[in-house]
Amino acid sequence: MAKIQTPQPVRGTQDMFGETEERFAYVVATFERVRRLYGFKGLQLPVIEPTAVFSRSLGEATDVVSKEMYTFEDRGGDSISLRPEFTAGVARAYLTNGWQQYAPMKLSVHGPLFRYERPQKGRYRQFHQIDAEIIGAAEPVADVELLGMADQLLKELGINKGVTLQLNTLGDTQSRDAWRAALIAYFNDHKVGLSEDSLARLEKNPLRILDSKDPKDRPIADAAPAIDDYLSGEAQDFFGAVTSGLDAAGVTWERNARLVRGLDYYRHTAFEFVTDRLGAQGTVLGGGRYDGLIENLGGPATPAVGWAAGIERLAMLVDVWESFPIEIAVVAEHELRVEEAIKLVVKCRNAGFRSEQFISGSPRKRFDKARKSEPAILVSFDIREGKETNTFAWFDNGSTRIEEVKAFLQQFENESGF
Ligand code: ATP
Ligand code: MG
Repeated sequence: MAKIQTPQPVRGTQDMFGETEERFAYVVATFERVRRLYGFKGLQLPVIEPTAVFSRSLGEATDVVSKEMYTFEDRGGDSISLRPEFTAGVARAYLTNGWQQYAPMKLSVHGPLFRYERPQKGRYRQFHQIDAEIIGAAEPVADVELLGMADQLLKELGINKGVTLQLNTLGDTQSRDAWRAALIAYFNDHKVGLSEDSLARLEKNPLRILDSKDPKDRPIADAAPAIDDYLSGEAQDFFGAVTSGLDAAGVTWERNARLVRGLDYYRHTAFEFVTDRLGAQGTVLGGGRYDGLIENLGGPATPAVGWAAGIERLAMLVDVWESFPIEIAVVAEHELRVEEAIKLVVKCRNAGFRSEQFISGSPRKRFDKARKSEPAILVSFDIREGKETNTFAWFDNGSTRIEEVKAFLQQFENESGF
């Protein structure tokens, strides 16, 4: 018989285990805690959506929709896409569930996303984001609250050092359109120096040239007209309220007048938290105000602001994370004491202590196996020279609840005459 070939994982996907998984889980757990501090409700959303959810809201011309989306026809002939981002799906859910009645809504979601990109460090085809949105809030205080949450999250993850909040405004529609026209004129004058990708962007999405990573484009992009000369009075006031609100909230920020976001739907506030610790993949969290998006999906004009952050990139930056070492290892070194060991380990787990039993395999090896599991406390049941012997051993494994574990076992000892 021919040897069966083991199927390989899909390129750009990851199987996470051990430290990688612990870091990932720590980012999610910290996000879930912090978003509750700010009153954000959780959402669970479908991974698949009708393709129109993304093509209408992100815009056909964006890289995500035109090049990166996983789109297929299902068996019923409908065009379906794996979600490449969260905002469009959150907006779709807001409209189709009639959540307008609850506006303003603070919502959060996390999970896998899919983009057909060239895989590299910090860039995958299946990746994961945490995401926060405030829908139905037009005031700059919403932007401030949302950014405050992002800032606190990065602090609680211990990765705020070396990460800067870069802030810009894209103005209202009128300001943005005037700036866009000026950019098109400017880039047309500098066409010869632009990369091929940017020449294509000039037709479809000229703002994106500003954020090109191609070294050829950088000098031209860096000298391009800034938004400031095109901001309406109203747009200036809005940005002023955001920046003074951030100052009041103690959130440090830096102006980056050339920061734009990849997607078409942004207005006013645009921001990224950027680090120099991840090479080319330096943006860890990004977002802004997307007052036009919900209308693009056929809903009423609805102001909204949100951000998303790549969990993998955050997890790579984390230096200290929560891990969950075994607290109590219970060993039966003699077959006649297996049942007692089972009883104790059940008690330990019922009392909320992470516990492991070592009651199978060669009895002589069980103690060593238990030792290698690095528990805080090891309890061993044995019979030596015909006498029942019980041993306790303590280890410093970094457990934070050592005193509770001790008290619990003391109580067990007293009750069982152990
Ligand atoms: P980039 O310029 O790095 O492609 P983007 O503008 O496409 O980023 P967003 O759509 O704003 O990114 O997504 C927000 C965050 O999600 C990014 O800052 C990054 O942390 C993460 N992210 C985006 N694409 C990927 C990917 N393919 N793999 C891993 N993380 C990603
Ligand atoms: Mg991208």
